[in-house]
Order: sequence, then C-alpha cells, then structure tokens
Amino acid sequence: MRRRLPAGARERVGIVVERLRQEHPAAICALVHQSPLQLLVATVLSAQCTDERVNLVTPALFARYPAVQELAAAVPDELEEVIRSTGFFRMKARAIREMSQDIVDRYGGEVPARMDDLVTLRGVGRKTANVVLGVAFGVPGLPVDTHVTRLSARLKLTSATDPAEIERDLCSMVPAEEWTNLSLRLIVHGRQVCVARRPRCPQCAVNDICPSAQLGPLRPASLRMKAQATSRSSRSRSPRAS
Ligand code: SF4
Repeated sequence: MRRRLPAGARERVGIVVERLRQEHPAAICALVHQSPLQLLVATVLSAQCTDERVNLVTPALFARYPAVQELAAAVPDELEEVIRSTGFFRMKARAIREMSQDIVDRYGGEVPARMDDLVTLRGVGRKTANVVLGVAFGVPGLPVDTHVTRLSARLKLTSATDPAEIERDLCSMVPAEEWTNLSLRLIVHGRQVCVARRPRCPQCAVNDICPSAQLGPLRPASLRMKAQATSRSSRSRSPRAS
C-alpha cells in the first residue's frame, strides 16, 4: 500500500523551496572537481568526512592518478596513503579502484550519465549517483544525505525514513528542475541553521511553517517581518542625524 504524505506536506515544500532559494541563492556543491569522474571520487571520499578535508586531499590524488585507468590500477597501499586523512581509507580506496575498474570495463572509461548505470558501479549508491547526475551532468537528481533526511523529517515533508523513499516523496512534490538545488539548499541549511543537535529556529527562514519549530525558542517569520517593518517606520520618523 502506498504511504501517505504528511498533511500539508505539498504546501510546505513549496514554501521551503521558495524561502531557501532566497536564503541560500548560490547553492553549489562544495566538492571541488573538474569532471564527472573527479566528482564521483570526491563524493565517495566525502562519506563520514567534511567537504573541506576532501578538497584538501583531492588535488594530490588527481595529480597522481589523472585518468580512470590509473585509479583502477592503483596499488592499494599507495592509494590508501593518499586518501588516509579522509577516514575509512581502506574501504574508500577499494571502492575507488573497483568503481574505476567498472567504468573502464563496461563504460569505455567514461562515467555513465544515467542512474540505472551509475548504481551498477561498485561502491556507488543512489545518493552518490544523484550528486553526479545533478551537479556534473545537469540531469535532475535529488541526493538524500543526513541533512536532507533530518530536515525532511523536521519539516514533515515525508514520513519515510529510508533515503530512497524520502527521495521518492520529495521528487513527487517538487518539479524536476528544482530537485538538485533543493537538496543542495537543504544541506546548506542543515549545516548552518537546522543543525542536528540544537537547531537555530529563531534564525530559520521557515520557522513559521515548520511543525518542529518548538525545538528551539520561536521567533516566527511573521513577527520578524513585523519587527523589521516597525523598525523601518520608526527610522523614517526619526530626525536625520546632522
Ligand atoms: S524551524 Fe527549526 S526545526 Fe524547523 S527547519 Fe528551521 S531550524 Fe529546523
């Protein structure tokens, strides 16, 4: 039986898309890359690691292994050493070698641009595939990471907990051309405002429509706008400083 969306989810998500667009207009992927392959590798490295740390490691990695064939043939110990500081380096090195080998063997050395193909690469799941599709290929994709999962739950945009189902619910309510940007903006919002432990609800652009806003002291957007209007009108009544 098909799961029902939470009451009001469609209306809320439309407002979230608009408000986050205003709040975080330049939503970009923080992983520095020059090609789909580099983004794919950087995304694998970003598991349980900050984007900043990945960006420190990838220049040396791509200088040493510029082509997918070289990544596929990398000596495990040497590759592990280059990526060691990103954590889980043995597992990540194996994933990079295996997925590179798959790209060489089955896709002529080119990263495929279809979800169905990307997820057949060893070590590549839907989240990574959606990042590559949306950011590197401009194909609509909605990556669901820990931030998207948390914010979707707090904003009651879905009742699902499985990332693939969260993705399906969000995609069913939002136009395809918004998918990638919505994911990127939810991630930025999750890092800067709706943080995991103590969300900054008073500073949040969607606190007036968020069912979880009581998680922090409230200052609804309507009150904030009223306060700004009051402050503007009192400034306009004040005599000018000479
Ligand atoms: S109001 Fe609070 S809980 Fe809701 S999205 Fe904003 S920061 Fe998160």
